[in-house]
Amino acid sequence: MEYILSVGTNIGDRKENIERCIESVNLLPGTEVVKTSALYETEPVGYDDQQNFYNILLMVESKLEPNEMLGACLGIEAGFGRHRVIRFGPRIIDVDIIFAEDKVIETENLTVPHPRYSERRFVLQPLLDLFENGEVYGTDIKPMLQKISDQEIEKISF
Ligand code: ADP
Ligand code: MG
Repeated sequence: MEYILSVGTNIGDRKENIERCIESVNLLPGTEVVKTSALYETEPVGYDDQQNFYNILLMVESKLEPNEMLGACLGIEAGFGRHRVIRFGPRIIDVDIIFAEDKVIETENLTVPHPRYSERRFVLQPLLDLFENGEVYGTDIKPMLQKISDQEIEKISF
């Protein structure tokens, strides 16, 4: 199964956190990062009083089922020592499942596609790096991106 994972960080050495996270995903059983978006610096959404985020998307090929992938993502977060304090607040690493191909999943612990991806430029903009025509598993994301073009985002060198 092909997954699109979103990785964000705004505590500590943000570039190093992203690199370590990619290594951690590659270490999951039967799992390989096949493509990465550019790296972006973005303003926080939902809670302003915190450092800017670094965000990236990973295209991942994995034999893991979606619920196993969620567990793996939460495990990686735990490995970074992430503590949940403020909703939408600062975090050393956040790993979200944005897509699992065209699957639609709604369970207590997992919603795919991610429920808020269409409002977040830090997801939509890098999606265009991975899907250059803006067509993502049957969904055209270009109109979504137009609606939130006021959110600040900047491509940075890795
Ligand atoms: P957010 O990433 O929305 O800022 P959190 O990372 O704190 O918030 O949310 C974590 C919880 O969200 C997880 O415990 C998980 O069960 C739930 N969740 C639901 N759908 C997803 C998804 N697609 N990807 C990651 N977590 C999800
Ligand atoms: Mg999350």
